[in-house]
Amino acid sequence: MDEGRFIENLKRRGYEVTIFDTGAAAAAYLEGAIEGKTVGFGDSETMLSMGLYDKLAAHNQVFDPMHRPQGESFRETAKKTLLTDVFLTSLNAMSETGELVNIDGTGNRVAGSLFGHEKVYFVVSLNKLCPTLEDAVFRARNVAAPQNAARHGFSNPCAVRGDRCYDCAAKDRICNALVVHYRKMRGIRMEVVLIREPMGL
Ligand code: SF4
Repeated sequence: MDEGRFIENLKRRGYEVTIFDTGAAAAAYLEGAIEGKTVGFGDSETMLSMGLYDKLAAHNQVFDPMHRPQGESFRETAKKTLLTDVFLTSLNAMSETGELVNIDGTGNRVAGSLFGHEKVYFVVSLNKLCPTLEDAVFRARNVAAPQNAARHGFSNPCAVRGDRCYDCAAKDRICNALVVHYRKMRGIRMEVVLIREPMGL
């Protein structure tokens, strides 16, 4: 796939774009760019492996359901992420044509990416880049979601068999909404922070 064409398509759709060879370089960039803000996190294996919570929490007020204070429920912390200056999450797939795809089970991750913040960052490895929107939706449903279900230790059929989506009715189904970002949302700055190093699911 053509990295340059992909970046041009993202810019044409209104996104700011930065690109780094490694997750460490992207983390250093974000650590410098986000200062003195309230920050919300959407669940992301990529951001976890970058150690982004600790880096940003040193000089921002960060709310992350994966690092919530003792005694605070997932729901309480997740609600706080929706009211922050800045929101960061990753993506399940991207198309070379510039569409961005995310699946969510609870909704806090996609909700935070759509409204209410000064700026949204998508922190994502280029290993999630697909040729077309159709391919990106296929990846999100049949590659990323099953791996995420397994990561959470759920016994959904995709996690147990590890091959594809079964469109399950499991109580822990993690695919209750699919969001396709066609363009930058109105009234919010949105930046796609691309990482060449393979990361995330
Ligand atoms: S719908 Fe169910 S089977 Fe399909 S990926 Fe999501 S959790 Fe897995």
